[in-house]
Amino acid sequence: MVEVYKFGGTCMENTSKLETVTQIIKNSEKPLVVTVSAAAGVTNQLKLLLDSELTEVTISEILTKLRERHIQLSHLEQAPPEIEEALQRLERLLQGISYTEDISPRIISLIMSFGERLIGPVLQTYLKKEGLKSQIVDAENLIRTSHNYLNAHADLEVSEKLIESHLRTTLSDFDVVIVPGFFGTSGEEITLLGRSGTDYSATILAYGLHATSITIWKDVHGFMSADPNLVDNAKTIPTLSYEEAAELAYFGAKLLHPRAASPARIRNIPIKIRHIDDMASITTISSESSNNQGITSAAHMQGLAIMKVFTSIGGNTKGAFSKISGAIEEAGGNPISVSTSQTCFAFLMPELEAQIVQEEIMDLGSSIIDSIDVVENMALIGLVGESMGSRTEMVHSILGVLQTERINIEMISGGATENAIQLAIAEKDLKRALEIIHKNFLE
Ligand code: ASP
Ligand code: MG
Repeated sequence: MVEVYKFGGTCMENTSKLETVTQIIKNSEKPLVVTVSAAAGVTNQLKLLLDSELTEVTISEILTKLRERHIQLSHLEQAPPEIEEALQRLERLLQGISYTEDISPRIISLIMSFGERLIGPVLQTYLKKEGLKSQIVDAENLIRTSHNYLNAHADLEVSEKLIESHLRTTLSDFDVVIVPGFFGTSGEEITLLGRSGTDYSATILAYGLHATSITIWKDVHGFMSADPNLVDNAKTIPTLSYEEAAELAYFGAKLLHPRAASPARIRNIPIKIRHIDDMASITTISSESSNNQGITSAAHMQGLAIMKVFTSIGGNTKGAFSKISGAIEEAGGNPISVSTSQTCFAFLMPELEAQIVQEEIMDLGSSIIDSIDVVENMALIGLVGESMGSRTEMVHSILGVLQTERINIEMISGGATENAIQLAIAEKDLKRALEIIHKNFLE
């Protein structure tokens, strides 16, 4: 019987939060597996560094910054040996790149994993002060993934075997086993689990350990019925099904990594999302339905564009859609939603992506494409709720309230899963639309 805890980067951002984290760990049942994200901002610093020109100066600047930050977080005079070792390894890697000017995805993923490698020893210094015995186990020994370096999928079967042999036995000798989050290995190289990947690390570890529960500690009040910055009456949702959580995760990836629910769902392990300073707000994600007959949450995304591809061969010609969507994929586009008519295919995607893709797919030529129209400043509202999409009445009422507010819907999609309806509207109408939907269906 073991639990898995995940602490996000903002829980590690200063010494007072680290004290809170330590008390939470101290007061929890042992043994405990704790997976940690890099201290807030560190992964971004590493990314920025890799995006800029690497020189002696920039390398030494970042190393000084990282050393000082982690010493200060540890409450120590100098860096603990594990941190010093990690920094020296990072320095060698960075110097190697500046020398060879070879910066492949595999080096990027290795370097980006250092934020998580540096924070483990910091947490250890706090646990030691409380008399807790802890050990760091490298995620390389536990999490096996696909070869997609920056956004890899877990191979759960192999990971389970690795976890069984490298983590299970360690657990009996320590109070706390710390696993750096965010990365694993393809068997050959370090791979990243995607941004905010430590949530996914937690559920993979829980899967392999047959853990009783996973708690994702953050500084947010669980999953909310809408974004509290836009809707005043937004409230914490107490229970969510895995499916609802996965749908919502695609909208607010800050709350839960989009793939994190899956390993937990397979093993039926509940995931709790909790605030480190507010013990009252908890969202529990489990196989139990939220018991909510209507909408559970209204999530949203901004900064989107609809790319309308007009084609006279459209609906009548076999393969027209696959040619166009294939070209979009090749150009690096990843549409969030698609809607088609006989003469036009409309793809919803981030504005920047639409601009790049538009140029590329014009190359398909005038025998396929008549014209392309990109409508920017769009937002997408995702309404999520168990079995909601199957309710004609629900769709009807939603459209009704939006109509009373004179909010125009540019694209609508529902029915792909029963849990979600998606509406694309102009960004300027977003706040009003969320408020009216919340008032009518969530209050
Ligand atoms: N530190 C990584 C990121 O910022 C992973 C994580 O936060 O879970 O994306
Ligand atoms: Mg982070």
